[in-house]
Amino acid sequence: MQASDERYSRQVLFPGIGAEGQRKLAAARIAIVGCGATGSALSGLLVRAGVGYVRIIDRDYIEPSNLQRQMLFDECDAADSLPKAIAAARKLQQANSTVTVEPHVEDLTPDNCEELLQSTGLILDGTDNFETRYLLNDYAVRERRPWIYTAAVASYGVTMNILPEETACLACVFPRPPSGAVETCDTGGILNSAVNLVASLAATEAMKLLVGARESMRRTLLSFDVWHNERSEISAAVPRDDCSVCRQRDFSYLAGRVHPHISLCGRNSVQIHERRRPIDFAALQARLAPHGEVRFTDYVLKFERPPFELTLFPDGRAIIKGTTDTGIARSFYARFVGS
Ligand SMILES: [Zn+2]
Repeated sequence: MQASDERYSRQVLFPGIGAEGQRKLAAARIAIVGCGATGSALSGLLVRAGVGYVRIIDRDYIEPSNLQRQMLFDECDAADSLPKAIAAARKLQQANSTVTVEPHVEDLTPDNCEELLQSTGLILDGTDNFETRYLLNDYAVRERRPWIYTAAVASYGVTMNILPEETACLACVFPRPPSGAVETCDTGGILNSAVNLVASLAATEAMKLLVGARESMRRTLLSFDVWHNERSEISAAVPRDDCSVCRQRDFSYLAGRVHPHISLCGRNSVQIHERRRPIDFAALQARLAPHGEVRFTDYVLKFERPPFELTLFPDGRAIIKGTTDTGIARSFYARFVGS
């Protein structure tokens, strides 16, 4: 028996997978967009299951408040403010060195969507916001690529498979992003068990698709409330006749006509990524030192100048904590990094 046979023996025994299914998993290529709680669970399950190539795209870094639910990360990662994609790839490769995990510390935008999602057979949603999900939906429908929507907040989790030209897409079910005050992890809190439940459901649907059991995939929007023990399911079996995305093929998010409002799940902060500029961390540290506390690693530079804290990535993207006012964040960035 080869080591790989041993590794996957209990999964191969399951009739839905079998030896042939295991080979298909090894040949599969997927992208996971967002690697917080949902992305941690999705990637953990699928890398251990033997999916051969997993691309992880995440724009964020690890903080202590993530550790309650983001199962791939530990206290050292938070102390180092490691980018989530980097830390996730390390942990996943420790769990399974026989597959390829490719991290990208980037924010998914209309400009880099093609580059970051190409050559994958399935996209999984580990994001925390509707703007990125609509962008993903535009791209996946345009490319006729399956994707799986997954979201969780408080004790509630929801998931849906999108098989373009077969089932409903995200815009069929939610024609517009929710308006008004939307509950987020920041306002409604979140139970780690709610996230892990929906991520497990989504990972199972992913395995079905990847082994070719497409007919066994669920064709509903399924939601659970793990605290109140409520479950609901609505049909998503067919596209809505007047859907602007999958019927009229109007990809407004992909075309960049909808400018995302940026605010991150779980904190009082603004992301700035107006243009790419390579940053020399050592030179910037010398320049910023007289103005506040500054330190850097290979991956991030942190600059604290109360009430703000700037986290800068090597490509010039920044997350400014201490405000939700984009104007204030932008001027702070311009003053200390450059306009
Ligand atoms: Zn649609």
